[in-house]
Amino acid sequence: MKIKPYRVALVIGDQWDDPAGFLVNVPSTLPEDQYSDSFVSSDFSSLIIMFKSWGIPFDIIRLDQEFMDINRFIGPDGKPTIGCIVWDVDQTAKLQPQRYEVLREAVNEYGISLIALADRIGEPVIQELLGIKYIDDLLSSDSLEHSGVHFITKGLKGSFDYTDESATACKSVEVELSGAESIAEQEKYPQVTVRRLESGAGAVWIGGDIERMFSRQEMRTLFRRAITWCIGYSLFKTWENKGWMMLDDPGGAQNPWLDHWHYPTLTEQQIDERLIEPLKEHNAILVINVIPGFVNDELRRVEPSFKRKFTDEFGTFQDYPSTLRGLIKGMEAGVFEISSHGLTHMQPDLWSQPGPWYGAALDKERAEVGWYREFGDVRRGKEIPAAEALWRMKTGIKWLEYLFGITPLSFSQGGEGPSISISYPNHTYRLTALAGFGWYTWSGGYLGRDLAVRGWDFRGTMDCPLFAAAPPDAHDKGIAEHPEQFLRVFEENPDVEWMGLREYIAYIHADISGGWDNGFTLKVDYDSHYCRHFEKNNSEWNLLAADWLAKALGNVTISVDGETTVTDADLNEQLKIKIPAGLGAHSIQIK
Ligand SMILES: [Zn+2]
Repeated sequence: MKIKPYRVALVIGDQWDDPAGFLVNVPSTLPEDQYSDSFVSSDFSSLIIMFKSWGIPFDIIRLDQEFMDINRFIGPDGKPTIGCIVWDVDQTAKLQPQRYEVLREAVNEYGISLIALADRIGEPVIQELLGIKYIDDLLSSDSLEHSGVHFITKGLKGSFDYTDESATACKSVEVELSGAESIAEQEKYPQVTVRRLESGAGAVWIGGDIERMFSRQEMRTLFRRAITWCIGYSLFKTWENKGWMMLDDPGGAQNPWLDHWHYPTLTEQQIDERLIEPLKEHNAILVINVIPGFVNDELRRVEPSFKRKFTDEFGTFQDYPSTLRGLIKGMEAGVFEISSHGLTHMQPDLWSQPGPWYGAALDKERAEVGWYREFGDVRRGKEIPAAEALWRMKTGIKWLEYLFGITPLSFSQGGEGPSISISYPNHTYRLTALAGFGWYTWSGGYLGRDLAVRGWDFRGTMDCPLFAAAPPDAHDKGIAEHPEQFLRVFEENPDVEWMGLREYIAYIHADISGGWDNGFTLKVDYDSHYCRHFEKNNSEWNLLAADWLAKALGNVTISVDGETTVTDADLNEQLKIKIPAGLGAHSIQIK
């Protein structure tokens, strides 16, 4: 039996607006001032977010820069390295010269499956492989109807909206079947078609509007099931009823110096009563973006935060060592996760024009919020140069290690920095990925050696955990002033299980592969940096086989790292595969 490799090749045209192939921009609902880039397309970022969040391994092939040949899909041994091609190419875009007949070879000779999206089917070879013929564009507000009989639509709502709130009609395509079977229709028009080719390859077309098709949960699930049907199986994560919540700012220099943001730092007792106890009671984790460097005005240097007790110039007593004891207590109780909030939450240059900030009066430069921003020079309307920003990110990591004995994997910039640091060399997202972070909190997304994603999507769905700001105001200020309101997070989200970001980061950085290796084997590799959560924690993945492969395999025995964990299983049913704690490679064998 041929088991296809568990890897997707995502083929795109010119959607990726970073010519260096590292930054992925996500169209955002954030206010314009926090988000000033221009965006080319949303289909590309949606695909990246889904693949990362599910854990489905993929390559990106961008035809505006790459010359697609058969070597994109086969290895040096002449065997396929790709199980499924996802085709999202606008051929009217400016692309390198391509030989599209290579796709025929990949599908018909190597049995590599093909999924084409929406109107990206202009190419005759694509239509031939899919078994459909393009007729015309289509505009309809009808729902998508299906019988739910086919594996790809099984379990989905019988009829679901094809348009989202912002559109009155869905842009799609009218096709004629020429070998394919329709499994979902919009009125009389086929909108999802399937075909099994002699080579064993599956060919699927999913219609809809490329700009917005993935805004619907049903379409995302349909797409994931189409990948499973095409490859034959999938090992993936979903995130139903999971969430993470976040709080910023302990350790910062704003509260003793900035007039409109002035309050006493939390004491150990307050942290215990207001945060640790309720978190314990709800078995929840709170991600805290901590500032490890404190600007000492008198000595004109940065010192580790939480060193001193003093009465500030407003007359407020600040007990930072007590704050530190509280944070460590929550961390040791397993309810706090320490995340990086940079180094100081302040400008690197506190001395030049229009300063100095050093020694300034409380109601003069001290009261200017721009001084309390670290990764964009909001006070001077300038960017922070790359080397300075990177030093602050890396030093912030070291200082958190010094204070808490942990290496932070997520990052949050102090204030609205990146709207300023936006040129490519100084781009905050690019630099945080270089500094080794795995996730950009608040407005951000995945960071890794391969990509930095600016923005994220699908929060609070099965495709991404819910993301909540700890009430009342996402800051320690709120807990200092209105502590009773923190409990709202549990009242408003009664079904959510609050997990840490480190766990999510470990999953989205897992290196998964699968195929035939002396038998049907899947491998899950956890690296020692991003996946460190799994050093001491088990992990769990969903295993699902398509009907045709489940039938061919019959009932199976599954062993994980050589230990039999499941016997006599029917892969038609989605199974949970538990992987024992430990870094490095784990194997899942299916016999
Ligand atoms: Zn902050």
